[in-house]
This record gives sequence, structure tokens and C-alpha cells, in this order.
Amino acid sequence: MHLPTYSSGTGQIYFGDGSYPGNANGLRDLAKEVDVIAHEFTHAVIDEYHPGMFGSEGAALHEGYADYFACSLLDEPDLGEYVVPAPEKVGMIRSCDNDLKYSQTSAEPHNRGQAWAGACWHLRKQLGKEVADFLIFGSMLVLGTTSPTFKYAKDMLLLIDQYWCGSEYKAVIKRIFETEREIPV
Ligand SMILES: [Zn+2]
Repeated sequence: MHLPTYSSGTGQIYFGDGSYPGNANGLRDLAKEVDVIAHEFTHAVIDEYHPGMFGSEGAALHEGYADYFACSLLDEPDLGEYVVPAPEKVGMIRSCDNDLKYSQTSAEPHNRGQAWAGACWHLRKQLGKEVADFLIFGSMLVLGTTSPTFKYAKDMLLLIDQYWCGSEYKAVIKRIFETEREIPV
């Protein structure tokens, strides 16, 4: 089974085979779920600003931003409710409304990215979509290294808040990203 992917080599998005129900373990047509399209589109946008942004945490941040953008766009924290054929499976791939600490995730980028997406989603619950999207995507665009860490990305979030918002949201960012998610200070 091929999963959807964005290729930095071709600049194109591929949606995979959507092999369910022919393949009982497959997924439904992935091009029919907006979550998937918005997620892959985010990879394309990040790649445009930061070509080759990888490294183990760079890849996880890619996934975290992609999950957050899809959920913020749709105003709904679950991903993949259509493509995962419920009731055979649980009915979703991932949720941004999670409480995962950084240390509770594995090094696999989609897994680790959940801690980032979860922190971003909880920031959105605190500050609303407009402010959270401004801070999160503003900081995403100024990541100045090809292999950012979670600590670095969080510090850029604080920098955007300091520069544009006079550190109005510093305390809530530090609580959510440092205290609750345990992203290194
Ligand atoms: Zn992805």
C-alpha cells in the first residue's frame, strides 16, 4: 500500500492507492479527504520556504505543522476519519487534540509530530484560530535552519510573539510547549 506523500523532487503530491475495500487493510481513496490534501499541501509550502528541512526533528515538525494546518483549516482536530474504513478501524489516523508529551512520542516523524501538533492545537484552544495561526505559521516561515529542533521551533514561536505581540502570549506558550509538552527550554 502506498501512502500519500509530497515529493520535493517533483513538487507534486501523490495520494497513494486507496486500496480499500479490495485490500481489507487498505485505506479509502485518499484524494477524497480534505485532511489529507491539506496535510500534504503544508509539506509543499514548507518545502518552498525551507527546501530540504529535515533532520529527525525537522521531519517531525513537518508532520506536526501539516497536521495542525489541516485541522485548523477544517476547525476540527481529527485526521483521516474518511480514509480509515470504520468500523473496522478506529475511524481516524491521528488527532491534534492529544496530550502527548515530547518524551512519550517515538522518533518516527508522524508519531513525534503529534506532540507538536497537539501543543499547537491546545494553543489554538486557548487563543483562538486567528491568533494561534498567526503565531504558528508566522514562526514556521522564519525557521532559519535546515534541521530545526522542537526547542528551536518553540523559541521561534516565542520570538514572533515578542516581535509582533509584545510577548502578550509568552506565558501561555511557555506553559503549553515547555511545561505541558516538556519541549526543552
Ligand atoms: Zn506528512
